[in-house]
Amino acid sequence: MRKKIVAGNWKMNLDYNEGLALFSEVVNMVKDEITGSQITVVCSPYIHLHSLAQLAKGYDKVAIGAQNAHQNESGAYTGEISAKMVRSTGAEYVILGHSERRQYFGEDNQLLAAKTDTALKNGLKPIFCIGETLEEREADQHFDVIKTQLKEGLGHLSTEQFEQVVIAYEPVWAIGTGKTASAEQAQEIHAFIRNEIAEAYNQEVADNTTILYGGSCNPKNAPELFAQADIDGGLIGGASLKSRDFTDIVKVFN
Ligand code: PEP
Repeated sequence: MRKKIVAGNWKMNLDYNEGLALFSEVVNMVKDEITGSQITVVCSPYIHLHSLAQLAKGYDKVAIGAQNAHQNESGAYTGEISAKMVRSTGAEYVILGHSERRQYFGEDNQLLAAKTDTALKNGLKPIFCIGETLEEREADQHFDVIKTQLKEGLGHLSTEQFEQVVIAYEPVWAIGTGKTASAEQAQEIHAFIRNEIAEAYNQEVADNTTILYGGSCNPKNAPELFAQADIDGGLIGGASLKSRDFTDIVKVFN
């Protein structure tokens, strides 16, 4: 059975002490609420990773992730962080291909394919983000965009590699805008993604893949979104910065 995941993406928010305080609050609130095959992942800035991983020890349903990692193993890339460094903090996940990285840092599918390889090689599970812009949706190109992002970013992976990947469908027009895809719109795309995976690998791999929805997900809209057959949880931005809201989203699966 595929895992249900609620993952928080703190983005570039919270200084070191604020991050530790929020994480401690979240762990205390969610530790008795995570049921069955569900896990909670907190994706923090790099500076928090090691301390959060220490605090998460003993809670096997709470994991830590980074928000990016470099495509090269090591070297003269001033200011960058490698996948191996991320893994050495105790983090288990890494967000790759977030639309903010695609948009502001020019990350394209080819680069993301390389980042995915390096992350996997170093024992990190990618949370691989895909999704269309408003213009692409209005031009009725959303299925093509998603198909291409999947094919070019992940299409080269072996079955064993692909099984380590979590997909996050994040319509760019819904990220940080307060606009959410309707449950029907999200389900339609999630079913499409699962079908693409079945065609690329097989039905069993597709059925075992966790596909998250991201884009202004909150405690109010999460129940309807997470009730959809192909939505296995969420990647949560703004609402992950409030312990009560994040916990309420985690509890939706109870
Ligand atoms: C995100 O950035 O991954 C995200 C989903 O943000 P928000 O929930 O704030 O729209």
